[in-house]
Amino acid sequence: MNLILFGPPGSGKGTQSALLIERMQMKQISTGDLFRAAIKNGTPLGKEAKGYLDAGKLVPDSVTIGLVEEELNKLNGQGFILDGFPRNVVQAEALGGLLKTLGLKVDYTTFLEVPTSLLLGRLTGRRVCKNCGTVYHIESKPSKVEGVCDVCGGQVVQRPDDKEEVISTRLEAYEQSTRPLKDYYKAKGNYVELDGTGTSEEVYARLAKAVQVKR
Ligand code: AMP
Repeated sequence: MNLILFGPPGSGKGTQSALLIERMQMKQISTGDLFRAAIKNGTPLGKEAKGYLDAGKLVPDSVTIGLVEEELNKLNGQGFILDGFPRNVVQAEALGGLLKTLGLKVDYTTFLEVPTSLLLGRLTGRRVCKNCGTVYHIESKPSKVEGVCDVCGGQVVQRPDDKEEVISTRLEAYEQSTRPLKDYYKAKGNYVELDGTGTSEEVYARLAKAVQVKR
């Protein structure tokens, strides 16, 4: 099973990907996570991407597409979830070409719909473990001890781009570049639009039903 999961920042792509990989043998390819790891490790890719992430802007297509190509080449037959890629039509076209070359196909493109009014609260309240990446929310899913990860004891922090001043740029980038992908993928078929509101388990139940995987 191969999936594209897309939606606005804060729509729950990362959370749903985590639930899917926990229950299905799939590999998550999250460009955002890959960029953050590269920044943490101080690699050349990280140095190139940092300014864009800090500003809430999209990393240039050539860099992002190259990164996804590397990940797709490492799959070895495992199903994948593309989380946060593609984010514009140029990337979507490039992905189509890469998949064709590799003889792979996407079974479903799923879009998580969340009203803009809810996104801001989700993003400003989000906290993540610096060590293992577990995602919390200060109101709906706080860690047991503030600032400490329940899973690994790592430090739980706010992502720099979840600060209010950067969020507006990210939402603009989404509106301008990513939202048009809805029509692009609708026209291609196997497109599923899901209600992304409610608890993560409620959303997962809708997702699992739509793409016919176990709950
Ligand atoms: P995310 O974790 O998906 O919210 O992504 C965080 C940041 O990583 C974005 O605001 C962009 O700066 C960068 N990024 C992630 N995915 C992409 C992509 N497909 N194209 C360009 N930039 C991306």
